[in-house]
Amino acid sequence: MARDYYGLLGVSKGASDSEIKRAYRKLARELHPDVNPDEGAQARFQEISAAYEVLSDPEKRRIVDLGGDPLESAAAGGGGFSGFGGLGDVFEAFFGGGATSRGPVGRVRPGSDSLLRMRLDLEECATGVTKQVTVDTAILCDLCHGKGTHGDSSPVTCDTCGGRGEIQTVQRSLLGQVMTSRPCPVCGGVGEVIPNPCNRCSGDGRVRARREISVKIPAGVGDGMRVRLAAQGEVGPGGGPAGDLYVEVHEKPHPVFVRDGDDLHCTVSVPMVDAALGTTVTVDAILDGPIELTIPAGTQPGAVTTLRGHGMPHLRSGVRGDLHAHIDVVVPSRLDHEDIELLRAFKERTKGTAEVRSAQNGNASAHGGGLFSRLRETFTGR
Ligand SMILES: [Zn+2]
Ligand SMILES: [Zn+2]
Repeated sequence: MARDYYGLLGVSKGASDSEIKRAYRKLARELHPDVNPDEGAQARFQEISAAYEVLSDPEKRRIVDLGGDPLESAAAGGGGFSGFGGLGDVFEAFFGGGATSRGPVGRVRPGSDSLLRMRLDLEECATGVTKQVTVDTAILCDLCHGKGTHGDSSPVTCDTCGGRGEIQTVQRSLLGQVMTSRPCPVCGGVGEVIPNPCNRCSGDGRVRARREISVKIPAGVGDGMRVRLAAQGEVGPGGGPAGDLYVEVHEKPHPVFVRDGDDLHCTVSVPMVDAALGTTVTVDAILDGPIELTIPAGTQPGAVTTLRGHGMPHLRSGVRGDLHAHIDVVVPSRLDHEDIELLRAFKERTKGTAEVRSAQNGNASAHGGGLFSRLRETFTGR
């Protein structure tokens, strides 16, 4: 049977905290080993100290009031429960405080981070952009301000787990009795329940809402990069601090430019005759607008002209990368009679200059592989 802690201290069940304290002090002064070396007195002193330990702790006292003995299970260490008579015994058998107890988890917990994807075109990545986005998230309940309770009511200790947040069960196995713990299903491991929850959030302290937020994306971001917005994620259970919101950038493919870090590449198509005679073309560069590009006479297919500092700005330093223009020489596929005559005449004039060059000298083949063909595939594939 549960010990009569009230009886040990000589107080009534309804005794106040100060009455219990006074009764213990009075007895302790008589029975303390320093003043009373009698063996019986020492045993009594231990008993009243235990009684005071239990009754001065609201949690333990509550177990006593339910008919249990908070010290019995602790001493028993999880084994040897017998006689499931009163409520207290059952209570202790299932929920007794074992040495493995981790204690209840906090009702107020940090919120989780959120991830949002944002599609940006190359120009937006280059300039940086501020966009309004709608996020579906958890925000603080404005009725209870995260408390989760209705009006002035308060959470109370969970009856099922006695405030421990976990439930222990004793199972018989080959090794003897094994105590297993699991989170209390009633309070979710919190150790307290809200008997009178907030009407708006049902006790969670937060509600789901669509929220408009302004996201500032810095210049120089690239595909897959994440921008962190501190405390813009979900508000936690019980109105806990909000997690962070991450915005992941997805860069849309650009019709003209292919990005390689801070460098940009584009293909400039030049008619065969212009490549031979030299010309100027206009490239509409990112951030800089039209730029005149000189194609010198005798430019070979696959030649690369680099425009320094006309690429993307670096995310941190802002230093611009380069723009590489890959020259594609276009051979006319349709010629009228006059063209053919002219080209034949040209051929007559330059007879013997055509030669079969080895691959290492071959300008076209040297430039034809690698990035240039990759670029071409990229463009023709679309
Ligand atoms: Zn609420
Ligand atoms: Zn519980």
